[in-house]
Amino acid sequence: MSTISLEEALAAVDKAMASRLIQETETVLTVDAAGRILACDQVSGLDLPPFDKSAMDGYAVLEDDKRESYRVLEVVPAGQAPSCALEPGAAAKVMTGAPVPKGAARVIMVEDTDNGEDTVRVLHHRPNANICKQGEDIRAGDPIMTAGTKLDPLAIANLISCGVTSVEVRRKVRVAIYATGNEIVEDLDAIEPGKIMDSNGPMLLALARENGLEIALSRHVSDDRAAVGTAIGEAAETADIVLLSGGVSMGDFDFVPAAMQDAGFVIHVDSVAVKPGRPVTFATRGDCVALGMPGNPVSAFLCFHLYVRRIAAHLSGACPPLRSFQVDLGAEFARKRADRTGFVPCVLRPDGRVELLSYHGSAHLLSLCEADGFMEVPSGVKRIDAGAAVRFYPWALGKW
Ligand code: AMP
Ligand code: MG
Repeated sequence: MSTISLEEALAAVDKAMASRLIQETETVLTVDAAGRILACDQVSGLDLPPFDKSAMDGYAVLEDDKRESYRVLEVVPAGQAPSCALEPGAAAKVMTGAPVPKGAARVIMVEDTDNGEDTVRVLHHRPNANICKQGEDIRAGDPIMTAGTKLDPLAIANLISCGVTSVEVRRKVRVAIYATGNEIVEDLDAIEPGKIMDSNGPMLLALARENGLEIALSRHVSDDRAAVGTAIGEAAETADIVLLSGGVSMGDFDFVPAAMQDAGFVIHVDSVAVKPGRPVTFATRGDCVALGMPGNPVSAFLCFHLYVRRIAAHLSGACPPLRSFQVDLGAEFARKRADRTGFVPCVLRPDGRVELLSYHGSAHLLSLCEADGFMEVPSGVKRIDAGAAVRFYPWALGKW
């Protein structure tokens, strides 16, 4: 297969994923639904506010009843209904969040009075009503959230304030993670010349968890075509996505693409003009999707953000995941070759500029720790001047 552009690769992923929305749903308590994806549109069960509510600690009075002092009928704390009816010259002392008595047109804030108990003197009348009217934010039955919304803390708070205490969500996407390579070990005691610690396995595991995926399994496989093929076939029985790190390149022991085919997968993408992350294998078999990514940690990290989040979003019905925005480049960037779309780790500064980090290439995992995201260097571009506009992909900002 030939090398295709990133746009073509993402389009191929979108095409292959188009009809793969997971149909199973479950009902969960909204309070426990962080990270889950709504299966249906939601409407409010309540008016918000549910009653005419005081926005201030103060004294509620009738319309056009402006005078120097009022008789105080009662004190209404939040959570309690008023018991007296207002009349000209009378006020009810109401706390923030308390229902105001019927007919109340205005709450005079405590700060504008002498805070009197039986009688209150007003020092200063202002035009502000300080009353939030029933249903002024949301009416019962109003649409509040659409299917495909990923539930974050704000979404949970909104649903619950609208009386939606349980929600139907998509079943979690199940992912199997295989770190391939004869050189990688999981145990420090097993380190000997030629061996390295498996950092991709734990990184992908943490990324998967952070993105609300369920871990079907997470293992190490050696560079053995039969072993990799068997592992992929086994994972495909339970997982929606099989992720593999390593073994997708041109080396003598890179068996992942062949092993995917041995396991009955059809390869849609196997080389993308992206740096890092050119060798990447995207394949499908029935309901299962496999993604083989390079073993170099920065490549694996980028591939997770470019492809895995997208694949998971298709499976769970969520909106396309990776967001980007335009920022200014802090200092000049230059590279020798421009045949691929480049992704360069950088920091987003408080002044809105991105700054490049010391970055030695796709094995330089530590550079990512300081970074906030990747800057995109378009294919064909060798140099970007300081101050020029660039596209920035934050990996931990926004809804995804
Ligand atoms: P590969 O894609 O298998 O050719 O591996 C490319 C580079 O990534 C090699 O230097 C590997 O040793 C390294 N690598 C592969 N797998 C891992 C892993 N799980 N954790 C850390 N580094 C890895
Ligand atoms: Mg390898």
